Amino acid sequence: MSLFTETAAWVEDEHRMFADTAHKLFSDELAPNTEKWAEAGIVDREFWRTVGAQGVMGGAVPEEYGGFGGGIGFDAITTYEQGRVGDTGWGYGIQSIVTHYIMAFGSEDQKKKWGPGLVSGDIVAAIAMTEPDTGSDLQNVQTFAERDGNHYKINGSKTFITNGHTADIVVIVCKTDRKAGAKGVSLIVLETEGAEGFRRGRNLRKLGMKGSDTAELFFKDMRVPTSNLLGPEEGQGFYQLMKQLPWERLMISITALGFIDFAIEQTVAYTQERKAFGKRIMDFQNTRFKLAECKTKAELLRSFVNDCIGRLEAGKLDAATASMAKYWGSQTQNEVMHECLQLFGGNGFMMEYPIARLYADSRVQMIYGGTNEIMKELIARSLDV
Ligand SMILES: Cc1cc2nc3c(=O)[nH]c(=O)nc-3n(C[C@H](O)[C@H](O)[C@H](O)COP(=O)(O)OP(=O)(O)OC[C@H]3O[C@@H](n4cnc5c(N)ncnc54)[C@H](O)[C@@H]3O)c2cc1C
Repeated sequence: MSLFTETAAWVEDEHRMFADTAHKLFSDELAPNTEKWAEAGIVDREFWRTVGAQGVMGGAVPEEYGGFGGGIGFDAITTYEQGRVGDTGWGYGIQSIVTHYIMAFGSEDQKKKWGPGLVSGDIVAAIAMTEPDTGSDLQNVQTFAERDGNHYKINGSKTFITNGHTADIVVIVCKTDRKAGAKGVSLIVLETEGAEGFRRGRNLRKLGMKGSDTAELFFKDMRVPTSNLLGPEEGQGFYQLMKQLPWERLMISITALGFIDFAIEQTVAYTQERKAFGKRIMDFQNTRFKLAECKTKAELLRSFVNDCIGRLEAGKLDAATASMAKYWGSQTQNEVMHECLQLFGGNGFMMEYPIARLYADSRVQMIYGGTNEIMKELIARSLDV
């Protein structure tokens, strides 16, 4: 299986070659380590550089900043191929999101400083929006950055931060003006090495996605140069977040498709082998119908996702459509995992079968990147004009 539909207009030969490279790399270097890194609660740092060396990260980064100047389609392929081998531990999604922020809103100096490392894997990135008391209601973040000469003094805390323990840079969503609502939000890039007043908390224990390091972060009078502000002036953060959200949301549905393809493949193989009542499990009509339903959902999602990638490449993916992709993709993923797991019987509940981990890993897709309820709000808003 592949991400592409037969007729997707955005797909060129380079995309197909890139997909082969990514698939081989992840089959050889990621899939065999997924369980080990899930046990460890963190992905081996060297893996980031391995992927970077193969040119599989930062596909949309221009050459002058370390990439090869492809489009968003290359990032989409990396995202899909990771899901296709059933991994969620490696935090590429966040790396890609931050890379896009820096390329879209960074100054020339910032792009030159961080771009090459983000592509090579020498720099791992995180984005810190969520706080202990604020998730969906992002405008309400309490982390505050106060100007102090040519530095910001930042106070506050964040939670659930993917790549939080590995990150060399963290894009912090904070207030620079407490009275200005959404217009008081800014994005400031923290360079973690040696940063005074910065502390990482626990690596949070989770239901799934266990190979991903998920951190609490604490800032106490933490000093960050004012030159690390993203964008020409303060107060642009909310607008910057909104501009990038379509990609973040689409990515979640691309991961969903990768997972679905992997789960169907695993389930077909299992039900062809396993027997009950003298028949293969695959020979029961219920099994055939369930798998037919799953496959149909996969193809619907593939078409939608390909359409969305084409729209995004053309600068035409609106917030409501991206929200539909996120909501429907992640919900469909969970439905498919549920059905596939059932066809494994008791073995489906055992962690030695990947379907058990896929099931657990899928749940969060309906929560992060904006919950599916928030997605429905955004879709409804586009109707109620
Ligand atoms: C594994 C994992 C990784 C994550 N990684 C990151 C990361 O890297 N960076 C980061 O910043 N955050 C990250 N998050 C946080 C994630 O984005 C938030 O958990 C998510 O946005 C929801 O916020 P919340 O947890 O505060 O839920 P809440 O906002 O408290 O929501 C609770 C419930 O209320 C519902 N609800 C809230 N508002 C409305 C409304 N207006 N209408 C209807 N229903 C509503 C929600 O849908 C949800 O069901 C991660 C979370 C997890 C679990």
